[in-house]
Amino acid sequence: MKPILEWQIASVKSIRQETPRAKTFTLLLPNWMRHKAGQHYDVRLTAPDGYQAQRSYSIASEPERGGEIDLTVERIEDGEVSSYMHEVLIVGDLIEVRGPIGGYFVWEANMAGPILLVAGGSGIVPLMAMIRHRAAVGSKTPARLLYSTRTPEDVIYYDELIGLQSAQDGLEVAYTFTRQAPPGWTGYARRIDAEMLGEVAGPLGDEARAYICGPTLMVESAADGLLQVGLAAGQIRTERFGPTGGN
Ligand SMILES: Cc1cc2nc3c(=O)[nH]c(=O)nc-3n(C[C@H](O)[C@H](O)[C@H](O)COP(=O)(O)OP(=O)(O)OC[C@H]3O[C@@H](n4cnc5c(N)ncnc54)[C@H](O)[C@@H]3O)c2cc1C
Repeated sequence: MKPILEWQIASVKSIRQETPRAKTFTLLLPNWMRHKAGQHYDVRLTAPDGYQAQRSYSIASEPERGGEIDLTVERIEDGEVSSYMHEVLIVGDLIEVRGPIGGYFVWEANMAGPILLVAGGSGIVPLMAMIRHRAAVGSKTPARLLYSTRTPEDVIYYDELIGLQSAQDGLEVAYTFTRQAPPGWTGYARRIDAEMLGEVAGPLGDEARAYICGPTLMVESAADGLLQVGLAAGQIRTERFGPTGGN
C-alpha cells in the first residue's frame, strides 16, 4: 500500500456548477484510498517557473464510492487556488493531490449517538460526506444539520438534501440565511446563535456529537453557543476553513 501522504496525479472527470460561487470537481485517483467522512485532500499547483501553491479541500463524496472523490470548492475573490480551479481547470486536466488527511474531524456510521452538524457556507462539504456516508450504509442515526448561508442561492447540495430528508430516516435539515431570505420565509434569518443551536440540537439530547465547519469566526461562535446550551466540550469537533467570518 502507498504511504498516505504521497502526492499523486488525479485527472478531472467532471465539473459541476453547484451554486454561482461553488463548483464540484470529480477527480479520478490512480491511488484511491478509502477515506473517512470529514477528511480532506491537499491540492498543489505548480507554475511553469516552479512556484507552488497548496490548499486543503474536504472530500464531499462518501467513502463508499471507489476510485474517485468529489471536492467542492467555493471561489474566493482573488483567491489563488480556488480561482484557478474555477477559471482554468477543465475536464481531462491533471492536478496534483495527496490524501486522505485528518483523523479528528471524522464521523463513521458505527460511532454511537446522534449527530449535530453545523455548517457555514462551504463548511457544508465535509458534513455532506458524513450525510452521504450515513445514507450509503443505511444508518438511522438521528442527524440534524443546521446550515447557514448568505442567501438561498448559496445553498450547496440543496436538491440532494431535500431528497435525503424526504426519506424520513432521521435526517432533519434547518437553514438560516444571514443576508437575504426567500420571500415569505418563516425560518431562521440571522447568524447562528445559542438560541438557534438550542432549538436545533435540543431533540438530539445531551449525548449528541457535534461537528462544526465553516469560516473561523462562525465556527468559534457556534462552538461557544453549543457550550452554552449544555454540550460538553469533548462532544464538539470543529474545522476552520478560512480567516473570514463573512458568512
Ligand atoms: C482542512 C480544510 C478543509 C477545507 N475544505 C474546503 C472545502 O471543502 N471547500 C472550500 O471551498 N474551501 C475549503 N478550505 C479552504 C481552502 O483551503 C482555501 O483556504 C480557500 O479555497 C482559499 O484559498 P485561495 O488560494 O483561493 O485563496 P488565498 O489566495 O489563500 O486567499 C485570498 C484571500 O481570501 C482570504 N481567504 C482565504 N481563505 C478563505 C476562506 N476559506 N474564506 C474566505 N476568505 C478566505 C485570504 O485571507 C485572502 O485575503 C478548507 C480549508 C481547510 C484548512
